[in-house]
Amino acid sequence: MQKNEKTAENGEGREGKKLPKASEYMARTEQAVLHTYNRFPVVLEKGQGVYLEDVEGKRYLDFGAGIAVFALGYGNEEYNEALKSQVDKLIHTSNLYYHAPLMEAAEKLVKASGLSRVFFTNSGTEAIEGALKAARKYAYNKDGRTDHEIIAMEHSFHGRSIGALSVTGNAHYQEAFKPLMGGVKFARFNDLESVKAQVTDRTCAIILETVQGEGGIYPAEPEFLKGVKQLCQEKDILLILDEIQCGMGRTGSYFAWQQYGVEPDIMTCAKALGCGVPVGAFVLGEKAAASSLVPGDHGTTYGGNPLACAAVSRVFDLFEKERIIDHVRQLTPYLEQTLDALVEKYEFLSARRGMGFMQGLVVTGRPVGEIVGKALENGLIVLSAGSDVLRFVPPLVITKEDIDEMARRLEKSF
Ligand SMILES: *Cc1c(COP(=O)(O)O)cnc(C)c1O
Repeated sequence: MQKNEKTAENGEGREGKKLPKASEYMARTEQAVLHTYNRFPVVLEKGQGVYLEDVEGKRYLDFGAGIAVFALGYGNEEYNEALKSQVDKLIHTSNLYYHAPLMEAAEKLVKASGLSRVFFTNSGTEAIEGALKAARKYAYNKDGRTDHEIIAMEHSFHGRSIGALSVTGNAHYQEAFKPLMGGVKFARFNDLESVKAQVTDRTCAIILETVQGEGGIYPAEPEFLKGVKQLCQEKDILLILDEIQCGMGRTGSYFAWQQYGVEPDIMTCAKALGCGVPVGAFVLGEKAAASSLVPGDHGTTYGGNPLACAAVSRVFDLFEKERIIDHVRQLTPYLEQTLDALVEKYEFLSARRGMGFMQGLVVTGRPVGEIVGKALENGLIVLSAGSDVLRFVPPLVITKEDIDEMARRLEKSF
């Protein structure tokens, strides 16, 4: 779809200041930025609460949150203040030194997860890379072999770097970039037998999203996740749970696995972890932390710098203060009912799937991208996932009224 044809007629900001037209921003961007995204024809400028505003002053109700990132909503004063004051103090140190924000952010992430040790990265993809390395090192320490295998899931998404792409179960994303990392086998999500069939004496890790996001919003079935965990325990295989999208309160607990009672050996986290500041983390349980990465094995220049950690630290404070997770739990039934009512009402909506504020509607017989585009015209941001799913991952601070308004704007777009 060609999405950059829109021509804005006004060249005036609301204060009467002369601004470039949206069409000019888009054209100039396309001239300078490598075209790896088909962007929607909107130039966003600012946000307040759960609304975004473009350069022409049009407002959008945001049920995408920058892809499950902006959990606290836009313009949270305490969050913004934490960043501003850190900017004035110290933005970066490298990892050769200690600083207070690192201690605070790591302690809070350890507390929220109940796991043991944190390594901060700059993105989700890098968190996956670190998790894979930690798992290989753990196995290496055990048997000294260098031919360990990792089992990943079909329709998974873990990122686009070579390592993360290697465990991403999407042939289309992988094809042109082969050869990828070796020793990766794929199993079917929610099919324990297919996982068991891939296990060998060289398997060092099983990696999966607790709730598959990009693949189409598929929560793990409790029996499946418990079965995988048991398999891992029996064979001393590390369980890596990717909580990059489903973590940080989105499903009604800090991390989705906490609702299953299945603790990972390694967890990856990003997206809402910094609520907009680029930061990720992989977090090790005691077993993996005791025997895996040591000085010299892994590093990053920026990862966990004072600015990123000040964001993470304040995000946890605000989650507690604003009781974000309780709010998600309380409002989830209403969001689910609202979406279920749409499934009842419209022929082309065949099902709803999801957990908490991570929901998908399955669209049949209509391109989902068309609905996403129409919704945008009607001032509503929703996302797609997989080939046929409308994805809802709003800021975690939405209200009942926002859900009603979302439904109104969405129906208008059908
Ligand atoms: C977004 C995502 C990633 C990649 O994170 P980036 O920050 O884009 O590198 C990995 N895993 C899951 C489940 C994701 O949703």
